[in-house]
Amino acid sequence: MRRAGRIVARTIDRVLEAVRPGVATRALDGVAEQFILGEGAVPSFKGYRGFPASICVSVNEQVVHGIPGERRLKDGDVLSLDFGAIWEGYHADSAVTVFVGEPPSAEAEKLVRVTEDALEAGVSQVRAGKRLSDIGHAVQQVVEGAGFAVVREYVGHGIGRNLHEDPQIPNYGQPGRGPEIKPGLVVAVEPMVNLGDWPTRVLKDNWTVVTADGSLSAHFEHTIAVTADGPEVLTAR
Ligand code: MG
Ligand code: MG
Repeated sequence: MRRAGRIVARTIDRVLEAVRPGVATRALDGVAEQFILGEGAVPSFKGYRGFPASICVSVNEQVVHGIPGERRLKDGDVLSLDFGAIWEGYHADSAVTVFVGEPPSAEAEKLVRVTEDALEAGVSQVRAGKRLSDIGHAVQQVVEGAGFAVVREYVGHGIGRNLHEDPQIPNYGQPGRGPEIKPGLVVAVEPMVNLGDWPTRVLKDNWTVVTADGSLSAHFEHTIAVTADGPEVLTAR
């Protein structure tokens, strides 16, 4: 899983080098797929429940699961990219949000910064002796403390031989609930944060999740292993 995580991290770096105004989102998918295959790994997402691409590309009010296509990036777009790769049967999963060119507003800049901070807060709880709900509680505190909203309908997850395994990891909740976290557990923590309210809906393509109120959304994700020495971020860049 360390190897899978490193491949995902390097894929993200490659794809971010290709982000600029005028680039079609399909081109980013191509960069990712070629790099993952070149590493001898397999994209986790392509064909997953029929998903047609190797990465998810979600722009502006799109929260997650956007399908790469002919849409061309514009200066000021808020671009969420989600990646997964399989190495020798084991998955890693990671997402980032960046701006295409300059941030469109100070609020958008804050949204992205807070979402990444919320992921960090969640990761800090992925340690032996904590309870599962401590992760989501930490995420929620950061997000709502900054005046933003945590998406409820989609959650983080266990990960291993399957992309999505038990347990689910919501990005909200009371602390101190659920099973105790133990060494050997590997989870994907992935706050999805909206500038407006938290409800979402799915577009007619049956994949793309957007904010119901049309507000901007950001998404960060890491795959983290629980070790005796604390959290090990397998997808660190
Ligand atoms: Mg992901
Ligand atoms: Mg995930």
